Amino acid sequence: MRRELLKLPKTDIHCHLDGSVRPATLLELARRLKIKLPADNAEDLKRFVQVSPTCRSLKEFLDIFELIYPILRDPLSVERIAYELVEDCAKENTRHVEARFAPVLQESAKFPCEQVVEAALKGLRRGFKDFGTTSSIIICMIRSHGPKENRRAFDTLKKFFRAQDTLEEPCVVALDLAGDEARYPTRDYAAFYEEARALGMWTTCHAGETSGTENLRTALDLQVGRIGHGIHLMEDQKLVAEVARRKVPIEIGISSNVLTKSVPDLMSHPALDFHRAGVAITLNTDDRGIIGSDLTREYEQALTLGFTYPELQRLAIDSTDHLFLPAHNRQKLRRRFESEAAAVLQEQKT
Ligand SMILES: [Zn+2]
Repeated sequence: MRRELLKLPKTDIHCHLDGSVRPATLLELARRLKIKLPADNAEDLKRFVQVSPTCRSLKEFLDIFELIYPILRDPLSVERIAYELVEDCAKENTRHVEARFAPVLQESAKFPCEQVVEAALKGLRRGFKDFGTTSSIIICMIRSHGPKENRRAFDTLKKFFRAQDTLEEPCVVALDLAGDEARYPTRDYAAFYEEARALGMWTTCHAGETSGTENLRTALDLQVGRIGHGIHLMEDQKLVAEVARRKVPIEIGISSNVLTKSVPDLMSHPALDFHRAGVAITLNTDDRGIIGSDLTREYEQALTLGFTYPELQRLAIDSTDHLFLPAHNRQKLRRRFESEAAAVLQEQKT
């Protein structure tokens, strides 16, 4: 089945650029920057930069990034990881990727937020030319950051934001909020979301990933375009019905949720329940590098949960409706996906 799922045209709309780095690349980049890592070959490094199945929490998961960030505060590093993300996506027929990152976490005195974004755009653009996968950027604010830092992230978003009129030209399109949601509730960032909406930007928000439904409620009240993870929706059937009725898509990351212990185990993941309740869901990698997974694997996990292949095919096609792109570009991708999925099906029959 992996072969069929690999061929299926897909989108990845919840994908952290900084969590998508190949261990071998980290090693090379660290060498160039003369940064010491705890291992000197990619295989051994995995132990330090990939989440182990014994990971206990989102906090432990996020700690890995502390090791990675010093390496990513450099224009060549950012350009390269963006380029390689497009390459990795193209290899498994992911045709559009929305890469997200927090520029404030990657900035330094010599490398301000604007340049972080420019370097990422450069890598994505070069990636498209070489591998054909189109992309956009989502800017993350971080919950534990103060208002000054989040203002800097937001101003960067404001400076670069453009509705992506040409699919082939990557743009900065949306706002996200990431980090420890148990300690920093979404309502504290409401003003940013209201401003983003007033400026016509798309918005998404990590919510209901690790705790309760309060952040989900706030995200819905703020009229976000999509919700990241949202698995705690399962605690409140009324909220599930509301999300379905309002057609707010949930960006699901199955492997990520299992590893961060947001769900006790794979079979407890609510993705199928959401789907059957009429909630629009999409399957995503979240952090392919740190998880050591890819999008095809996420589709395989969904099969294990009980989704059928035709359901997954439909999910992949429908994911194009939820992209942060102008309608004509979403439709363009949808048509491409439909004809390619039909060709894969035809191939299976013969
Ligand atoms: Zn995420």
